[in-house]
Amino acid sequence: MVISPIPAFNDNYIWLLRGSGNQAVVVDPGDALPVIEMLDKEGLGLEAILVTHKHGDHVGGIERLKRVYPNLLVYGPAGEPIPAIDRRLRGGDRVSLPGVGVEFEILDVPGHTEGHIAYYGAGAMFCGDTLFAAGCGRVFSGTHQQLHESLTRIAALPGETLVYCAHEYTLDNLGFASWVEPDNPDIAQRTLETESLRRGDIPSVPSRLEVELRTNPFLRSGVPAVVAAAERYAGHQLGSPAEIFTAIRTWKDREYD
Ligand code: ZN
Ligand code: FE
Repeated sequence: MVISPIPAFNDNYIWLLRGSGNQAVVVDPGDALPVIEMLDKEGLGLEAILVTHKHGDHVGGIERLKRVYPNLLVYGPAGEPIPAIDRRLRGGDRVSLPGVGVEFEILDVPGHTEGHIAYYGAGAMFCGDTLFAAGCGRVFSGTHQQLHESLTRIAALPGETLVYCAHEYTLDNLGFASWVEPDNPDIAQRTLETESLRRGDIPSVPSRLEVELRTNPFLRSGVPAVVAAAERYAGHQLGSPAEIFTAIRTWKDREYD
C-alpha cells in the first residue's frame, strides 16, 4: 500500500491509499475537487471513503465524490450523524479494502467529537483530529476524560506505528510543547527537523508514534516535568493523569492558540 497526502483548504491532508491496481481509497475528503483531480491525474478509481468524524473539513466532499464514483462505499463512525455513510463502524470492527489490499481495525477514539473513530492497519493509523503530530484535537463535542482515554489507548500501540493525522499543525504544536517542557531536547530537535521540512514545503506528517511519546505533551501526562508544568498553570496540585491532561489542554486553548 502506498499512502500519499492530498492537500486541501489551508492545512488539511486528505490521505490517498492505493495498492498495485487501479483503485484508491481516501480518508476524510473535506473537499472533492482536489481528490478528483489527483485520481484523474493518476488514472485511479475510488473504491471507498473512510471517515473519522463529522466535521465539515473531513466530510464536505463526500456527496460529490459519490456522484462521480457511484460504486464507492463510505465507511464512518456509527456514533455520529453523517447521512452519507453506507457502513457504520464501531471499535473492534474490521474493514477490508481488497482494491487497495489492506484491512483496518477500528478504534473508538472519542473526545474531539463524541463518536470519533480511527483506522489502524498495516502499521499505519488514520486518526483524524484525535492525535496530531506534537498535539491533539480540541475537545468539541466529547469530553476531556474521553480524549485522555482515547490518547492513552493510542499510546499503547506499537512505537513504530505511523500516525496519519488530518492537519499540518506540527510546528505550531511544537511551540506549545516547548512551553510545557522547555528543557526537553527531543522537542528542540523535532522543532529543527520540522522547520527544515516545512521550509521545503514537505509534510511533517506522518510521524512515528514513538516520536510522539517523547515530544507530544498530550501523551506525557505521567512525566514529572509535564505534571509540574500542569500544576504551575492550574495553580494547585493535580491528582490523576486525566486531570494533568485536562489542565494542559485548557492551557493551550486559553493561552496559546
Ligand atoms: Zn475535527
Ligand atoms: Fe479537522
